[in-house]
Amino acid sequence: MATTHAPELVTDEWTSHYADTLKHIHAQAPERAAALIAPKGTLKSMPMHISRALSTLLALWAVSSYAAYDYIIVGGGPGGIIAADRLSEAGKKVLLLERGGPSTAETGGTYTPSWGIPTNLTKFDIPGAFETFWGDANQYWWCNDISVWAGCLIGGGGSINAGLYWVASDSDFSLASGWPAGWQDHAPYTAKVSARLPSTDHPSTDGLRYLEQSSTVMGQLLNSQGYTQTTINNNPNAKEHVYGFSSYDVRPSSTPPSSRLSPRSNETRRSTSAASAPAQSRPTSKPLSHVPPLVTLKLYTPATAVVRTGGTVTGVQTNDTSLGPNGIAPLNPGGRVILSAGAFGTSRILYQSGIGPSDMLEVVQNSGNAEAKKQFPPQGEWIELPVGYNVSDNPGVTLVFTHPSIDAYDSWANAWTNPRPADAAQYLKNQSGVYADASVKLNFWRSYVGTDSKKRWVQGTVRPGGVSYAMTNFPYNASQVFAVTLYLSTGLTSRGRIGIDANLNGVPLVQPYFTDSVDEATLVTAINDVIASVKNVPGLTLITPDNTTTVSNFVATYADGNLLSNHWVGANKLGTSPASAVVDVNARVFNTTNLFVVDASIIPSLPYGNPTGVIMSTAEQAVAKILAL
Ligand SMILES: Cc1cc2nc3c(=O)[nH]c(=O)nc-3n(C[C@H](O)[C@H](O)[C@H](O)COP(=O)(O)OP(=O)(O)OC[C@H]3O[C@@H](n4cnc5c(N)ncnc54)[C@H](O)[C@@H]3O)c2cc1C
Repeated sequence: MATTHAPELVTDEWTSHYADTLKHIHAQAPERAAALIAPKGTLKSMPMHISRALSTLLALWAVSSYAAYDYIIVGGGPGGIIAADRLSEAGKKVLLLERGGPSTAETGGTYTPSWGIPTNLTKFDIPGAFETFWGDANQYWWCNDISVWAGCLIGGGGSINAGLYWVASDSDFSLASGWPAGWQDHAPYTAKVSARLPSTDHPSTDGLRYLEQSSTVMGQLLNSQGYTQTTINNNPNAKEHVYGFSSYDVRPSSTPPSSRLSPRSNETRRSTSAASAPAQSRPTSKPLSHVPPLVTLKLYTPATAVVRTGGTVTGVQTNDTSLGPNGIAPLNPGGRVILSAGAFGTSRILYQSGIGPSDMLEVVQNSGNAEAKKQFPPQGEWIELPVGYNVSDNPGVTLVFTHPSIDAYDSWANAWTNPRPADAAQYLKNQSGVYADASVKLNFWRSYVGTDSKKRWVQGTVRPGGVSYAMTNFPYNASQVFAVTLYLSTGLTSRGRIGIDANLNGVPLVQPYFTDSVDEATLVTAINDVIASVKNVPGLTLITPDNTTTVSNFVATYADGNLLSNHWVGANKLGTSPASAVVDVNARVFNTTNLFVVDASIIPSLPYGNPTGVIMSTAEQAVAKILAL
């Protein structure tokens, strides 16, 4: 055997790197291992020099049988896709693990509506399908083990969200917003995002806007309050008394193909297909011209934990034995793992890897789920970090109005199964019209100074329809309904905690809404402000809240499930101390050497607007910092 050559190849690094892999080779393929290891022999029970020689042999065997990677990224949402894209661009060999299946057509998705849509336009491609994600018989796109809405398919939340897209502002990365020093110069990274994914506030391919009555009505109300209309993404730093047409990450027809967007340029599509294009297209031999084919994308491949020796990770535990012995995908020496599984997904993987607060690690320890515990270490090897703490999500309260000019679009009830024929035909023809964007038409911002002297911003989101938010026993005309959701954003001080329950499902442990009463009072003030101006718009009627309650009571009794915005950040926040943060200023998990997090969970606090723009800029900056290490 080649043992005579082995000693000169052996190093401590090799031996420790593959120690866990070797155990699994032995467990999984004893007949092959038996040729190299004496019966009942284990690496530990052998003399050191033999153990090392065998380790090397087995390691070489493992490497020759299974691909090893410079980077393994877990999770193909906005964070993970950008990480995969940029790392491969830098010449790194990348494995991207995604627990779910395809979404848009170019990722292999096939879920099209029954109204004659061509197969290249799935539910995830059609922006106007957004409101129908909750109406289907088989809603396979949601994560079935997370108690709040989260997308478990390629593109992650980006594949099932409304596509509202706000270019990051300076405040979104400021020290005041909780970012550590070194992250403030976001402009080059934000520019990279915008270059790949320009925003548009008129996604329809004919350049027109549709179903705009609610923005006209609300614009009148906001004008009476001294707001100014602007193109929001033209000046991301201006969020004081401004309103504008909603901006989307929908690819306009003029977008050039040499981008993260799809190679096809003649359709208006959601950005998530776009965002996932490189990862998807490289392994399926449709490489974009500027990136090497270095990403291997594995769909339907959940990762349960990282395989680690102390603080050094050697691989990722998956369910796919084609990736490595016992399903452990191996890293190259010097390789790194990036967790991008979203706030709840990444936190759970950390817990199952023995990283987190002890109460969560005890939940894993006490679990009967053998698969989830495959890599769970003994207590002496736990790494205690505040995984799941410091979480925020925008509390949102929805006001419902009627106005005679409004077309409520049947509150989107028939948008998937039985569309208005003219709108369906128009979209089919050239991806223009009502279906070219999601429901939201107008957004606005202003700040309030609370009783604690702190400044908080409120975002408004206006859309036609919304009967499900109407809480009134008075009669109203459902075909004239529109909804205005007011969210607290930058400056919000409430924090919650997420974690896992006994079934290892991702759950909020402490809801992040109104743990600080000044947040609640600020939102009440903002709502009262809007309501005070209803009289300035002829024909405008507020139906929720109605006159049977006060605004304070309305907000105080608003259910957590209704306050929820699905914008979770902070669970693995960046910082300078493991006492209060999970990852360091380079997005590396404290007390590890090669484990990183790149997703929404590292963002310390909520940005001005819906977070995907900031998540993508964060991912660009994090990858640059990781590559520089
Ligand atoms: C209904 C809804 C509407 C929204 N609307 C907007 C909006 O209009 N604009 C906006 O900016 N934001 C919106 N958001 C929020 C936004 O989508 C999220 O903040 C964003 O997607 C988070 O990105 P991420 O990369 O951190 O994680 P995610 O998008 O959650 O991606 C995580 C990925 O990891 C995968 N994964 C998880 N666990 C594992 C595992 N163990 N192994 C392998 N893969 C795993 C998941 O399947 C998923 O693909 C919305 C969210 C929801 C749910």
